Amino acid sequence: MSLLSTVKAELAALLDLLFPQACPLCRTELTPASAAGLCHSCQAQLPELSSPRCSRCALPFVSEGGSDHLCEPCLRQPPPFSQVEAVGNYEGLLRDAVHRFKYRGTVQLDRPLATLLAERMEQAETPFRPDLIVPVPLHLGRLRQRGYNQSLLLARQLAKRWRVPVAPRQLVRNRPTPPQQGLSLSVRQQNLRGAFAMTAPLQGETVLLIDDVMTTGATLRECARTLQSSGAGEIVAAVIGRAQRHH
Ligand SMILES: [Zn+2]
Ligand SMILES: [Zn+2]
Repeated sequence: MSLLSTVKAELAALLDLLFPQACPLCRTELTPASAAGLCHSCQAQLPELSSPRCSRCALPFVSEGGSDHLCEPCLRQPPPFSQVEAVGNYEGLLRDAVHRFKYRGTVQLDRPLATLLAERMEQAETPFRPDLIVPVPLHLGRLRQRGYNQSLLLARQLAKRWRVPVAPRQLVRNRPTPPQQGLSLSVRQQNLRGAFAMTAPLQGETVLLIDDVMTTGATLRECARTLQSSGAGEIVAAVIGRAQRHH
């Protein structure tokens, strides 16, 4: 160990002593933290993805039993991504966590949330390893207002963990989109037509497209369509929370 890293390690130990690490969700002291950096109680409270759900876009089916199958929108108009990965249903503590991360500046939730997503993806039968990670971009006005793009923070964490490049500015948003709440998928899709563009083409790279929440999937569909028409190979979408259609 070099002198500098010894000093750094001692400083870190001193800081831990003075300011014990707290769970970013409930502020209780971490003794010890889960692998994702949350307290075990919070981690246990996070909702999982419910089943049955759409095998393509992970839409939870509410009032029926049985196994996973395609939902009607995926049957009618297959999305440009092959699959959607999510930490869990967008409800309860997971919804709370995303709100803090996105609207209340709790940026230190980037590692816990990305770790939960990564762990989930790594547990898949045939884990998807992308050539490139692309975050859903914010419009510049929104970015200036918020100060950060939550999807880019998540993408950077995944990129670090898997040693895969992230493309922070290759997919851009040309114009802000009006509030989409309460609109149907087809109307949302129309509103989003041409809202995104690529600043440089791709050459068949497989892409993991990251967003924080998926509701109707109109945004992810339009981003994936833009990637696809710019030469992307297989595209998988990944989000923290998968919402029901009517959130
Ligand atoms: Zn906690
Ligand atoms: Zn579906």
